[in-house]
Amino acid sequence: MELKKIAVASGNEHKIDEIKSIFKGVEIISMHELGFDGDIPETGVTFKENALLKAEFIAKKFNIPALADDSGLCVDALDGAPGIYSARFSGGGDSENRKLLLKKLDGIENRKARFESAVCLCLPDGKAFFGEGKVYGNILKCEEGENGFGYDSLFYCNDLKKGFGTASPEEKNSVSHRYRALCDLREKL
Ligand code: IMP
Repeated sequence: MELKKIAVASGNEHKIDEIKSIFKGVEIISMHELGFDGDIPETGVTFKENALLKAEFIAKKFNIPALADDSGLCVDALDGAPGIYSARFSGGGDSENRKLLLKKLDGIENRKARFESAVCLCLPDGKAFFGEGKVYGNILKCEEGENGFGYDSLFYCNDLKKGFGTASPEEKNSVSHRYRALCDLREKL
């Protein structure tokens, strides 16, 4: 399928930039550029369900193909938490979320974790396509680097052999969960 213009159903500038650099050759516009800055209810219980809810909302409201990512950090020792609640883990912002994660893992040896992403492209008629991606690593004992967003400064990436907080955007985008989910989606289109 040939798509020329896609709206991204997210207000997260970091995510939009990552999607732009991965989905080259397609005009990517943000929902902000469409005049929408509201919250889209994320009532699903999986990344995939939430990605569909967000993409479908924007596709139907603005009659345009819409792409959404729902993603999060899953920590083995916390039974996969914070998972779909990654953005809302502490009730505060990214910095409070990272502090809470370090606190919960204090004294715990098993620091294995993965980022997961589900992406959904929804057409105005409701037809939806999905992609999924994961990237594995460990939670660092303290924050390292200032690159990226969210939990990046706490995530050591096995593929890169360095933390996402110290990796360049290009390095992160070459292995990230979102990159892998978008590649998976692109194959299905
Ligand atoms: P969403 O916007 O509801 O999908 O929430 C995603 C949340 O998961 C973000 O707010 C971050 O806390 C976390 N997250 C997802 N992807 C990444 C990433 O690439 N780096 C760091 N944190 C991420």
